Amino acid sequence: MNPRAKEIEASVAPANPPDGAQIWQYEILAPYAQSSARSAGRKYPEPRQPFRGPFQRDRDRIVHCSAFRRLSHKTQVFTGEKGDYHRTRLTHTLEVTCVARTLGRALRLNEDLIEALSLAHDLGHPPFGHAGEETLNACLAEVGGFCHNRHGLRIVAELEQRYPNFPGLNLSLETLAGQAARGHKQALEQPLLEVQVVDAADSIAYNTHDADDALNVGLLAMDELLKFPLWCEAARRVREQWTALAGKELTRAIVHELIAWQVADLLAETSSRLEQQGIDSLDAVRRAPRLVQASGELGQMKQEVQAFLYHRVYRHPQILQVRQGAQSRLAELFAWLAAHPGDLPDGYRQRAEQAGLLRTVGDYLAGMTDRYADQQYHFYIP
Ligand code: MG
Repeated sequence: MNPRAKEIEASVAPANPPDGAQIWQYEILAPYAQSSARSAGRKYPEPRQPFRGPFQRDRDRIVHCSAFRRLSHKTQVFTGEKGDYHRTRLTHTLEVTCVARTLGRALRLNEDLIEALSLAHDLGHPPFGHAGEETLNACLAEVGGFCHNRHGLRIVAELEQRYPNFPGLNLSLETLAGQAARGHKQALEQPLLEVQVVDAADSIAYNTHDADDALNVGLLAMDELLKFPLWCEAARRVREQWTALAGKELTRAIVHELIAWQVADLLAETSSRLEQQGIDSLDAVRRAPRLVQASGELGQMKQEVQAFLYHRVYRHPQILQVRQGAQSRLAELFAWLAAHPGDLPDGYRQRAEQAGLLRTVGDYLAGMTDRYADQQYHFYIP
């Protein structure tokens, strides 16, 4: 056992002995990583398992929950009208997980925790992407609004009913805290590096893949993207290797290059921040400014493309038309169920007594896939 492993083992309370899976982790985790042996446990205590660490268990619970399965029929940016080849919330989630694990392993962070956090990061998205979120937020204004990150936390903490002895998935406290920290970039204390890595991977994935999908469905032309230094430089690097690529082959190669470039840049920038600031513990991570960041130059280039995509793709007339239709159907369905609570499924009717009718209707609608929301709309609304 290496000295670092011995040191950690000595600091673990005897009542909480590390198991084989965790000892393996000490050997490779950096001192600023969240070790599994030092997890604060779960709200409802459960015995440890000898063959799976706590975050591996979290990952398995997330993958087996129904909100996870429904991600396959939830909009990322493009809905079913645009065909079946673009990304869904599920494939986006898997892509984020790949990028985040790569970053985490290279930085010697806890890959199990990163995997659990990545797989859970978009569980709270309602049908129809951000359009659906805006509608639910308006419908629920009186009772505190709706935000997908907050809703994701409620899903894993209370809404999923899969175990006889506790509500929700009873995830490790670090996994819950990581999800709770999403969307709070200006917080006084920074979250774990594992959480920061998932945020960064999400941004790398959607920035690149939304543009890729927009090209594939014909909402955008490659020439428009090549006006930006980010895409222009990626294309230059690709052409250095393959001079004759064109069309879809060129697009694919540029997308690969963009991801590889952003990952390499993020690793270099983050490693140098860790070193320069002498980060050697979880406390140091919390106190430091955000450590997992792109370099200033690349960050700037990414922002330009993001701003362009916002106007050119997310606000494209074809996308807006689909958005508006989806929003009015969702709002009508909300109003119908709020006025006819007898049409809610049994479990939700019971929940409404404790959680309130509006919040419960919101929870029910947020759990729906795009397709199911449309079916229900056509079933109830004449
Ligand atoms: Mg995401």
